[in-house]
Amino acid sequence: MTATDTRFARHLSMQRASAAEREAILANPGFGNYFTDHTTIIDFRVDASGVGGWHDARLEPYGPIALDPAAAVLHYGQEIFEGMKAYRHADGSIWTFRADANAARLNRSAVRLALPQLPEELFLESLSQLVAADQDWIPSGDGESLYLRPFMIATEAFLGVRPAREVSYRVIASPAGNYFGGEVKPVDIWVSRNYARAGRGGTGAAKAGGNYASSLAAQLEAEAHGCKQVLFLDQFNDNAVEELGGMNVFFVFRDGSIVTPALSGTILEGVTRSSVIQLGRDRGLQVSERKITLDEWRDGVAGGEITEVFACGTAAVITPIGQLRDGDEFIGMADAAAGEVTMSIRRQLLGIQTGTVEDTHGWLTRL
Ligand code: PMP
Repeated sequence: MTATDTRFARHLSMQRASAAEREAILANPGFGNYFTDHTTIIDFRVDASGVGGWHDARLEPYGPIALDPAAAVLHYGQEIFEGMKAYRHADGSIWTFRADANAARLNRSAVRLALPQLPEELFLESLSQLVAADQDWIPSGDGESLYLRPFMIATEAFLGVRPAREVSYRVIASPAGNYFGGEVKPVDIWVSRNYARAGRGGTGAAKAGGNYASSLAAQLEAEAHGCKQVLFLDQFNDNAVEELGGMNVFFVFRDGSIVTPALSGTILEGVTRSSVIQLGRDRGLQVSERKITLDEWRDGVAGGEITEVFACGTAAVITPIGQLRDGDEFIGMADAAAGEVTMSIRRQLLGIQTGTVEDTHGWLTRL
């Protein structure tokens, strides 16, 4: 084996959950709690001559992974992942949203983590194989979907520090309800002053597990202060706003313009972020990607120039930001209502994803 082999084998088994168990789960899936019956797997190996290739693409029953205790991922965290959703439209058809952007981002992350790139056709095939096998798991309620989690781990048993020569790529799926539960209400955010998420030249622009491990201490701090999410700043760049632990940030100004922090190499380029930029421009709004500092946020809210702030990402779609808590200081109003622009863009984006608003950009792919 050297060249990439793209044939998918199907090792289907009996379903893990009965139809009744599945229906009970789908009635209230929450987020990330339950997993479907199958997983897709593609392995990668570098052979003795130094040539690497993907092989043994297959669909298997969902279950534990047998890993050597010396597997590199367990020691050095050589891991990347993606997050996307499959939506069931009213006619029963199943679609993903901008899967090509996730494929491209997975490969950008792979380059940064010295993992092999996965051809886009294989990425798409890994999703469609899984969704075809587990389509009964796609909830069809308002705002519900099947969350897809592709990931890649270094499986080679070797304790030297170098890129692993054996890697496994997998996709698992989890039925998803509304990320923050129930109706859309503004979330309060904790400003992380003690912890940074990323630094210049680091892995902030990659979707790598280590970024999330290192965000957890800040997340605990946020929860201790009654906040659901953390805002990370670039403390070496005038406290420029970066992003939340798992979402990008947007500001709506009184003059109708929209601002989001520029991609500095330390924030994740969200698929939702680029979609919001496009939808804003479609509406004729001026959308800028630029540096915006915490001071500008504070002063803008106090002076009324900034009228809405929202966060966006695949899991939560678009979520209004309520109050920002910076130590003892509060920015914005507690219990503020969700902003009009925020909710209008949210409706439009969700509408495109769920098939009730025309997909003029060709963002949907049928699975
Ligand atoms: N920033 C971070 C750190 C994230 O984990 C995510 C979720 N993938 C996002 C932003 C939003 O990205 P997307 O819109 O592609 O989900």
